[in-house]
Amino acid sequence: MRADKKKADEAKDYANPKKEGKAKKTLVKLIRNIRQAIFVDKYNCLNCGKELSNPNRYGLCDECKSKIEFLHDDICHKCGRQERSEADYCLTCQNHERHFLRNRSVCVYDGIAKTMIHRYKFGGKKYYAPYFANMLADKYLDEGYDVDVIVSVPISKERARKRGYNQSQIVAKRLAEALKLPYVGECIVKNKNNIEQAKLSGKEREENVLGVYKVIDKIAVKGKRILVVDDVLTTGATMSEVARVLYKAGAQKVEGLTICATSYKIQSSNLGGEENNEE
Ligand SMILES: [Zn+2]
Ligand SMILES: [Zn+2]
Repeated sequence: MRADKKKADEAKDYANPKKEGKAKKTLVKLIRNIRQAIFVDKYNCLNCGKELSNPNRYGLCDECKSKIEFLHDDICHKCGRQERSEADYCLTCQNHERHFLRNRSVCVYDGIAKTMIHRYKFGGKKYYAPYFANMLADKYLDEGYDVDVIVSVPISKERARKRGYNQSQIVAKRLAEALKLPYVGECIVKNKNNIEQAKLSGKEREENVLGVYKVIDKIAVKGKRILVVDDVLTTGATMSEVARVLYKAGAQKVEGLTICATSYKIQSSNLGGEENNEE
């Protein structure tokens, strides 16, 4: 008798929309908590942590996004860095041989963007990668790139071991997935451990990267239109050298795409003195 009553009560509860709604809410809350535990910050602004009403492609709230200096028109036509003069090309591109056809960057390496890159590279925040890849994918389409394969700027084995990952490779692979293009980054390696670019001046940087990169799989690049992905373009010396070896290995066209490019302020003062670590 008692068991029957319990059953009947349970059936009543089940049919009770109020109780059902409460159970549903608890379940939704539980799922949200689990998701947040797995995908840290997935629904929070990557920069300020504010909860996002809608998860968006860049993982940023409107306020943080508005503070990022996205690069559009006032840029050097070659390297894509900010250019405030009337000239088509920045002084570096006017005075140095650039092996890449062009480079474009999503935003200026300053403020929030700079903090995010630092956290991503040095603070272990690997989960930023898909958001950076989304930024690059949008830029790729906006700028009308059309390539066959994607590579990333390689880092030395020692650096990869220390950091545990190659930050540009993760983003480049994500970008390749998004664009449905092959990622062939394994075809190029950094075979010399050069001095950190950050410690050198513009001219020294150029010499420092010479002969550092090597294409070990020429078939992967021969006759191909290649996009080289990196996190930050500083002087462009690294990008130029990577492009040079890719052309030497038979690439048809080499273009660069980076998340950030150093700001006009830094270019016009002391290139070697700023703290960006190009690798
Ligand atoms: Zn924010
Ligand atoms: Zn330039």
